Amino acid sequence: MGLLSALLAGDEADLPPSLPCGATVEKLAAGVWMIAPAQLGGRPLVISAGIHGDETAPVEVLCELADALVRGELCVRVPLLLAFGNLAALRAGRRYLDDDLNRLFAGATGAPGSRERPRAQALLAARAAFADRFGAALHLDLHSAIRASIYECFAVAPSRGACLTPELHALLAACGIEAVMLAGDAAPTFSALSVRAHGGEAFTFELGRVRKLGEGAATEFEATAACLRALVSAAPLPPARATPITFRVSREIIKASDAFRLNLPPDAPNFTGFAPGALIAEDGDARWMAGAGERIVFPNPGVKPGLRAGVLVVADSASDS
Ligand SMILES: [Zn+2]
Repeated sequence: MGLLSALLAGDEADLPPSLPCGATVEKLAAGVWMIAPAQLGGRPLVISAGIHGDETAPVEVLCELADALVRGELCVRVPLLLAFGNLAALRAGRRYLDDDLNRLFAGATGAPGSRERPRAQALLAARAAFADRFGAALHLDLHSAIRASIYECFAVAPSRGACLTPELHALLAACGIEAVMLAGDAAPTFSALSVRAHGGEAFTFELGRVRKLGEGAATEFEATAACLRALVSAAPLPPARATPITFRVSREIIKASDAFRLNLPPDAPNFTGFAPGALIAEDGDARWMAGAGERIVFPNPGVKPGLRAGVLVVADSASDS
């Protein structure tokens, strides 16, 4: 049985304690494994998927990678943490059960009795245990977007630096990432937690569209899958297609009340732009008007009041060339 079937069957899903190429495996929590290579070295790597339970294609990609490790088709040559996020929501085919798990990594614990609350705690503990043992890592948190995107595969970088290093740009390009959004590290997301609490680098990857389990890993992120295999086995990265365009967050739209209205068609893709001065959203007396070059990412008027209903970004002029 492959890992995906095992994960869907229950929390007992496990990997063998050692892999064919000599790496040792330790289960830290349901759906979370810390893998130490036979020879220690290389940049520690965290790969997570399924933080949102309906974003199944990245889960399938990560399960296929784990199955390849177990069969000995791929050898782990770096310290590796494999983490499958919201298992209960994955089994239910839902984004989350009570609270958006990717909003629970910055102190907020969710409502009392929330089923995501203990899951966030388990992931935080596992991430800390990996950092304690192996130090700063590269963390790639794999998602699919709810809506179409002008850039089909893009990354959110909760980066402390003012810009990405050429090495990280090359990594993103090799992974098939077409745009990257520099977002600071204050967000309550799993990737931002990694940067804030454990150093190193982290990205949230948004890979294509949400689709149903079993519809298969989309061809649109074959480049990402190849990149993950290269990183895990410390092999050269696959050739890059194009350098990703860099965007900076100009502001966030926080929904204050149920009167919130977003002035955007429901099927508008991520990175949709506005004419300067256009009305983007309103909430009672509050209005958001577009500044020059602003585009919207993650528009979601259906979030609970108090949460983010969209992010406005502008292209980084330094990367226009
Ligand atoms: Zn997601």
